[in-house]
Amino acid sequence: MGNNAAQTTEKLDVFTGPVFRPGDEGYDAEIAGFQTAYTHRPALVVGAVHAEDVRAAVEYAGRHDLPIAVQATGHGLSVATDGGLLISTRRMTGIRIDPARRTAYVGAGVRAGALVEAAAEHGLAPLNGSSPSVGVVGYLLGGGVGLLARRFGYAAEHVRTIELVTADGRVRTLTPGDELFGAALGSGGNFGVVTALEVGLVPVTTVYGGQLLFDTPLVERALEAWRRWTATVPDEVTSTVTMLAFPDIPQVPAPLRGRYVASVRIAYNGPAEEGERLVAPLRAVGERLKDDLRAMPYTESHTIHSDPDHPHAYAATNALLGEFSGEMAAALLRVAGPDSGAGAVVDVRHLGGALARTGDAGIAVDHRDAGYIVRIITDPADTATRAGIRAALTPWTLGHSLNFLYGAGDEADEAQTRTGYRPDTYARLAALKARHDPRNLFRFNRNIRPDAG
Ligand SMILES: Cc1cc2nc3c(=O)[nH]c(=O)nc-3n(C[C@H](O)[C@H](O)[C@H](O)COP(=O)(O)OP(=O)(O)OC[C@H]3O[C@@H](n4cnc5c(N)ncnc54)[C@H](O)[C@@H]3O)c2cc1C
Repeated sequence: MGNNAAQTTEKLDVFTGPVFRPGDEGYDAEIAGFQTAYTHRPALVVGAVHAEDVRAAVEYAGRHDLPIAVQATGHGLSVATDGGLLISTRRMTGIRIDPARRTAYVGAGVRAGALVEAAAEHGLAPLNGSSPSVGVVGYLLGGGVGLLARRFGYAAEHVRTIELVTADGRVRTLTPGDELFGAALGSGGNFGVVTALEVGLVPVTTVYGGQLLFDTPLVERALEAWRRWTATVPDEVTSTVTMLAFPDIPQVPAPLRGRYVASVRIAYNGPAEEGERLVAPLRAVGERLKDDLRAMPYTESHTIHSDPDHPHAYAATNALLGEFSGEMAAALLRVAGPDSGAGAVVDVRHLGGALARTGDAGIAVDHRDAGYIVRIITDPADTATRAGIRAALTPWTLGHSLNFLYGAGDEADEAQTRTGYRPDTYARLAALKARHDPRNLFRFNRNIRPDAG
């Protein structure tokens, strides 16, 4: 790939933020992100501090025919650059809450945890996902399945305006109804660089929830109880069951060391007394290694999933299912259960509810008939386990969620990207891509090729 940027003698003092080339002090720190299996290796990095830096960087890249990558946190790194230009948005951390309109105006580098804290000061909450360190914009560009997703729907349905720098170097303010508005939400950076956006907040200050952790002998019963329970709960309940083997190492607390467990993670948007009543069938499964279900301030809601907060190497695939029948659960246990020996973290998240209802903005999130998503997370090298578990679910798979594909390789190829959409949606996106980014400058993502229409 072209290293034109490294070779050009053009002065780079148009940027307010720092600029890095390979070998410069600060280059390695700037490209580092949450995913450690691989990183972008751009010929030039622009550490943008405001929208004008982003615009100037896109214009520069256009002039030098450099492909453009964007990174806020590195959680969703798919295809990495080798050469090209990286726009690093981590400094664009401005947040403005409008309590009267219940909206937040967020810069491209804002992380979910910072937005949760800022909104809470006004008795409001964003529709964030499980991890506080994920970037708000990257999450929304993938649709965004939040902690309270079944109650409020895809977070992207709540976006009001998007400020987008397109491949022609234009800064556009998009609102629902603009064709690029709906196309951008769900297609993860294919149409330009978002410098900021405005998103709706909800009047939520507390949540009832936490984790129920069951030891190996109860895993199968816990999965079955959760499966049946999800068919009975109201949309105010969003939950996940995660099955994993803790490694047998001293860093893991003694009761969990070397154990294969099932952990049910629950978020309920309602009163604690009703929450206690709702979870009774899950507690009836038996003894819990951990049971921290409680009413908590929304600012503690990141403890519900307790996602890892340290950068590490990972890859993940997933399968969207219409329902989660006993037959499917049995198939999953055979390939990923306690006796399978599979070294995967497998979780099943309950979808449906408001996620099934499509808003007016035409966002590019399909497969609304999915009632569940099975996610399979492994060491990046363990492609066989990911493929094996996915294959076991193939007979029932409706498609795949692009936001929950992590890693490069098979997880990021064009065939995979197509499975995220209905054919007509994909054709619409490819036609827009051909019009707005014919040179495919924005290709380091789950790429929609301009010639794929
Ligand atoms: C631990 C963990 C927990 C997660 N939990 C959830 C969850 O609960 N629900 C859910 O829906 N998703 C979840 N995700 C998925 C997450 O939403 C995606 O990986 C998302 O892409 C991460 O965005 P980021 O900005 O943090 O990451 P980055 O790697 O910085 O960005 C990911 C991609 O998004 C695009 N992008 C980012 N910023 C911009 C921008 N300003 N303009 C244009 N394109 C941009 C780029 O293509 C970039 O490659 C989780 C991921 C992890 C690793």
